[in-house]
Amino acid sequence: MRKSSHFVNLLIPTGILLGLTLLLAAPLAPDIQAVVPSPTPARAAPPSVAPPSPTPLPSPTPTAAAWERYQLRSNDESPLPTPRPLPESAEVPILMYHYVEPLPPNADRFRRDLTVLPENFEAQLQALADSGYHTVSLTDLYLYLTYGTPLPPKPIILTFDDGYRDAYTIILPLLQQYGFVGTFFVLATPTHYENPNYLTWAMMREMADAGMEIQGHGRDHVDLRGRSTDFLVYQILGIKEAVEYHTGQAVHFFCYPSGQYDDDVIAVARSAGYWGAVTTQYGRVHTREDLFALHRIRVRGTDSLESFMAHVEGR
Ligand SMILES: [Zn+2]
Repeated sequence: MRKSSHFVNLLIPTGILLGLTLLLAAPLAPDIQAVVPSPTPARAAPPSVAPPSPTPLPSPTPTAAAWERYQLRSNDESPLPTPRPLPESAEVPILMYHYVEPLPPNADRFRRDLTVLPENFEAQLQALADSGYHTVSLTDLYLYLTYGTPLPPKPIILTFDDGYRDAYTIILPLLQQYGFVGTFFVLATPTHYENPNYLTWAMMREMADAGMEIQGHGRDHVDLRGRSTDFLVYQILGIKEAVEYHTGQAVHFFCYPSGQYDDDVIAVARSAGYWGAVTTQYGRVHTREDLFALHRIRVRGTDSLESFMAHVEGR
C-alpha cells in the first residue's frame, strides 16, 4: 500500500514535467504568440550558423623562467639604447617684457619702467639676431631639462606678461619679421569683458597659429598667496582651460601674478597639468628642481641697448 501510493506520487509530477517540456519545445500556437509580449515584433530569423561566441583568451601567467628567457632574448637581440644623460642645468635667458608700445601721455614712472618703445624693442631683436641668438619656448627648455632634447646654440626665451593688445598689434609682427617666437602670459577676465587694452580670443588664436605660445597668468591679475584651493583652481586651471579652448593649443606654463606664490599655488598648478612656472626673480640658469620657480631677466623701459645686451649675456 505504501509502495503503490509512493509510485503514483512519483508518476504525477513526472507527467506534468514531460508535458511542460513538450509545450515549450513545440512551436507556439498563433493565439499564444499574440499573448507573449515581444519587443521586436518583426524579429529576423536567427542565423543558421551561430556567430562564434567570444571566448576569453587565457590570460598569460608569466613565470619566472619565462621572464628570464625574455630578458636573455632582449639582451641578446636588441639591447636597449643607452639613456641620454640628462643635463644638470640649462643656461637660457628668459626675458620678461610687459608693454611694447608708445608711452601714453600720462605715463608715470611705473608705466615708463614697464614700457619698451617699439623702436627700442626692434633694436633689441636686431641685436639678438646679430649676436646669433635663437628664440625657443618654455616647452623647449622643459624638454631639454627633462628629456635631454637638444636646444639650438645661444637659446633665449622672450616672454610678455599680461596679454596687452600691443602683443598682437606691435610685438607679433616684429617677432615674425625676425623669425622669432614669443611666449605670452594672458588673463581671461579682461578678454572676457572685451577690454580694448587686452588681446581678444581671436587674436590669441591667430598668434598661436603663427607659432607663438599662449600661456596662463590667471583668470585675474591677483595675488594668489594664502587663497583657498577652490579659488586657486578657478584662477590657475581656469585660465588654462580658457586658453586651450580658444586657441586649440595646450597650456603648460604659468606666470605667477606679480611674481607672488606659495606652496599651495605650486601644488594646484602641478595638479592642473602645468609643467612649470615663471617668477619675476632674476636668474638665467635653470634646473629640473626649479621648474616651478623659473627666474627671468626684466627688460626695463629705461634700458639702453648696451645695458640690455649686458643683461642678456649675464655681464
Ligand atoms: Zn602680470
